[in-house]
Amino acid sequence: MSYEHSYAPPPTPRGTPPVRINLYSDTQSKPTPAMKAAMMEAEVGDEQAGTDPTINELCERMAAFLGKEAAVFMPSGTMCNQIAIITQCRPGDEILAHETAHILTSEGSGAAALAGAQITGLRGERGQFSLDTLKGAIRSKSRHSPPQRMVEVEQTANSGGGTVWKLDDLNAIADFAHEQGMVTHMDGARLTNATVAAGIAPSDMVAGYDTVWLDFTKGLGAPLGAVLAGSSAVIGQAWRWKQRMGGALRQGGICAAACLYSLDHHVERLAEDHTNAKALARGLAQIPGIVVEMPETNLVFFDTTGTGIDATTLNARCREFGVGFNINKQWRARACTHLDISAADIETAIQVIREVVAKGP
Ligand SMILES: *Cc1c(COP(=O)(O)O)cnc(C)c1O
Repeated sequence: MSYEHSYAPPPTPRGTPPVRINLYSDTQSKPTPAMKAAMMEAEVGDEQAGTDPTINELCERMAAFLGKEAAVFMPSGTMCNQIAIITQCRPGDEILAHETAHILTSEGSGAAALAGAQITGLRGERGQFSLDTLKGAIRSKSRHSPPQRMVEVEQTANSGGGTVWKLDDLNAIADFAHEQGMVTHMDGARLTNATVAAGIAPSDMVAGYDTVWLDFTKGLGAPLGAVLAGSSAVIGQAWRWKQRMGGALRQGGICAAACLYSLDHHVERLAEDHTNAKALARGLAQIPGIVVEMPETNLVFFDTTGTGIDATTLNARCREFGVGFNINKQWRARACTHLDISAADIETAIQVIREVVAKGP
């Protein structure tokens, strides 16, 4: 059975109000007026020539933020993942990642199509695999087996419910991967959600990972952009791929200014999104038939089986009252809190969902 799989509200059907409370994704947040003002004032140059001062500042700042030698600005997080893979994996190499990892489920098989690498999905609760599971996935080294080249983790684990990997687990996995001669890559789309929730400095949290990136278009609220960091050698190679794929930019400092603004103003406030997510989870948990996965950060997954209303139908009915969320599976929905969602919006969303469920299937 197919289901709606959209991270944005579809075009509003005639006669229904627009989605006012947009819980589809944190990508839905819009640049604030102050962020736009910072963009207007950005000093710009030519990024492709290495002379955009605002992008250079962002990259220097992000290299320090993540404790790496170098960093490169990318148009998107997907490009960070794909370029991290293609710079470090050769055709035929194997990547070990959780079976729900974004690189496995949501990047159009980019690792296979572009790098020629295969991804093997590991099992584990809530988007995370254990060291033992990783150990169990190690193959004998023979000409029959795929060369195992990369271990990838997602912080936070998106489909796992926005869960935060523990520092000890991250380090144990990275140490083991390195002992095996593999490189480590962290998809840090929501890394700052994890660091704020755990109270751990980003550079400490990612110390075991050879490459790591942060997305500015998720909870940080910038219109676009992500930064990939790693050793100078890998980032040098990443630059070649960025150029090759047409990702090099001209006066991109306008966008980097929004990213810098978000580093100064939108990191600590992620705690508010986490508080709102917990309030949403508590409210949803009281609705008969809904089973909630308790959130650790800003993603609230809930199962609608007990209501008899599948997630797509529930969303369509709630949209008539201006509330929309994302469908993860036929009976599993995801609501995401972000910059444009207030505590009052959460109360309204809970009430709308409660009333829609009460009407029955
Ligand atoms: C959103 C996301 C990506 C891709 O980032 P884009 O900037 O949308 O390309 C990758 N990994 C995870 C876990 C994500 O949530």
